[in-house]
Amino acid sequence: MPELPEVETTRRGIEPHLSGQHILSVSVRQTQLRWPIPAEIIRLKNQLVISVGRRAKYLLVELPKGWIIIHLGMSGTIRVLPEKLPAGKHDHVDLHLSSGKVLRYTDPRRFGCWLWTINAPANHKLLANLGPEPLTTNFSAEYLFRQSRGKNTLVKPWLMDNKVVVGVGNIYASESLFRAGISPKRRAKSLTPDECKKIVISVKKVLELAIKNGGTTISDFLSAEGKPGYFAQKLKVYDRVGEPCQKCGNPVQKLTQAQRSTFFCAHCQR
Ligand SMILES: [Zn+2]
Repeated sequence: MPELPEVETTRRGIEPHLSGQHILSVSVRQTQLRWPIPAEIIRLKNQLVISVGRRAKYLLVELPKGWIIIHLGMSGTIRVLPEKLPAGKHDHVDLHLSSGKVLRYTDPRRFGCWLWTINAPANHKLLANLGPEPLTTNFSAEYLFRQSRGKNTLVKPWLMDNKVVVGVGNIYASESLFRAGISPKRRAKSLTPDECKKIVISVKKVLELAIKNGGTTISDFLSAEGKPGYFAQKLKVYDRVGEPCQKCGNPVQKLTQAQRSTFFCAHCQR
């Protein structure tokens, strides 16, 4: 599943091709994604793209009359391609651009979505209750410590809760806790201010590294230029059960928390 670094990689990949261009028209071959693609998007003609933003895992394409909100779901990818390249079975949406290229949305499982809003996207019901962006100063040690008070939840599913902070998916939660030296068996309420600081620094570092490397290759992620992400090679504990910990040499362990696999080093993470 594309996580925040993959979505941000996609945003950075498509932004130079979209901003300042016009969407001449839209071809929709399959309207039934997670929700039906609204007529306002299908009917778009000669619309200037003002900006391409992101909030959590949503891409926000700003047009003069409103915003297209795109979520990649489980298997969505967006690429910028030459117009004459024939569409495949899972290529559901094309934006025809004034540059002569197309922005093509591919989604075999169709859990993604394309939605339209004329109001500020921050107020949209899918986005209104989200926690802070992890790479902004709103996600700080003080904030995380305040949030952790009285929370009996295990620290890993708690970090993955979009109301606490957005964009920390399963891979990045394991990696961040390893870097912070915090055991995934801890409860959120047991964290000290100093430990919250270590977690915040680690989350930012892990996500920045993943974005720098174009996301991970897990679940067939391809960036906007069609290149795979290389972050999987840099993962320190995720999917490395039994391999020696890169800090201490003890074997990486695995456990299941909230139906998700957690990878950690019992020696380095306390
Ligand atoms: Zn270790």
